[in-house]
Amino acid sequence: MKVLVIGSGGREHALCWKLSYNPGVDAVIAAPGNGGTAQVARNVAVKDSDIQGLMALAKAEGVGLVVAGPEAPLVAGIADACAAAGIPCFGPDAFAARLEGSKAFAKTVMREAGVPTAPFGVFADVGEARAYVRAHGAPLVVKADGLAAGKGVVVARTVDEALEALDDMMVKKSFGEAGAAVVVEDALQGEEASFLAFCDGEQFALLPSAQDHKAAWEGDTGPNTGGMGAYSPAPVLPQDKYAETAELCIRPILRRMAELGHPFKGVLYAGLMFTKDGPMVLEYNVRFGDPECQPLLMRLDGDLLQIMLACAEGRLAPDMVRVRQQTALCVVVAAPGYPGSYPKGMAIHGLAEADALPGVKVFQAGTAVKDGGIVTSGGRVLGVTALGDTLAEAKARAYEAVGKVGFEGAFFRRDIGDKGIARSRA
Ligand code: ATP
Repeated sequence: MKVLVIGSGGREHALCWKLSYNPGVDAVIAAPGNGGTAQVARNVAVKDSDIQGLMALAKAEGVGLVVAGPEAPLVAGIADACAAAGIPCFGPDAFAARLEGSKAFAKTVMREAGVPTAPFGVFADVGEARAYVRAHGAPLVVKADGLAAGKGVVVARTVDEALEALDDMMVKKSFGEAGAAVVVEDALQGEEASFLAFCDGEQFALLPSAQDHKAAWEGDTGPNTGGMGAYSPAPVLPQDKYAETAELCIRPILRRMAELGHPFKGVLYAGLMFTKDGPMVLEYNVRFGDPECQPLLMRLDGDLLQIMLACAEGRLAPDMVRVRQQTALCVVVAAPGYPGSYPKGMAIHGLAEADALPGVKVFQAGTAVKDGGIVTSGGRVLGVTALGDTLAEAKARAYEAVGKVGFEGAFFRRDIGDKGIARSRA
């Protein structure tokens, strides 16, 4: 079978890599892909938001499964287009993708489904939003309703900061239509973790917990990024808590989406915060996290093709998802200046040496092939990922591999995994 993987990040390299080793897969096509996917798939230059172009490609190639890496094609209706064409798609329809595409929708569904989440209000009128902020007091979190590439969330410590965020989103329209409505919610405190489940509309199969590192710099300081590293499992959500956590944040959403006539298929990602009152859901994503996908797929032992087809076709069984009882840790190596502006086209060295280390896989994100070599083409460039019997071992291996790769001005956080290591020692 041919599989079409949509996207161009480290997540998509990991998906293509895992699928390419599957005996049931004849060929993987990546649209548009990157320097890493070019090694295990055939890159075709169609953008991830070009639904018509993607469908034309899928039909021309006779693909048997479409896998949406990022949220944009899902929100734009790739799963609906696949359904109309009779092609299985791994990912929810456009209606269900609003769990990520609209924070107001997500919060409303959470409330209807009884999922624990921060108290909130939804506003399309700036006057009403200001009144809520003044009446409520700080700290508060102001979120643009629509997709804003992870930048549409402001944690406001004072009422003035919250009012400024409202002004930015609703009056100055810094995020365009994404800020036409906002969610204002209570600020929570606690450690965060990601909890993902494969879903077939009715059944789900859990993946182990993971933890992302959103801040650019060590000690969780600096600007927010797409993610500077991740590891799995995350000790803040241990295995003996998976089942009860899924009853809180996965099953109720599947039930509610089915009631709404749009059963959720694909991977449901709950962004959790472990507060003193228990776990609360901050957000849902409707696809794998990037970089959480890289360590999760390093640990996955089950047959990813069969799991994805089973999700698409409504026949998922929990025992299809088997994982290695090891830890995997991914360190993102980024271009100088990221998440602000950064140079591109710098030659990358040491990829083969790093990849040759035991238990190590270097996933590529912002890379391209140029004159037979690999050069940088984005902000997050590499996701150097390693397996280990413990978190400390996975960390040591990943950083040994990071030491072998490089390009001009490359930077990375040196403390990926430290929260988990501290918690395991406590
Ligand atoms: P991304 O796309 O980057 O995952 P997002 O734009 O979808 O993020 P959220 O995940 O809802 O937005 O929020 C981003 C971050 O803001 C969270 O990871 C968390 O650190 C912080 N945050 C969100 N909601 C709250 C809250 N209620 N209290 C405290 N912090 C919060």
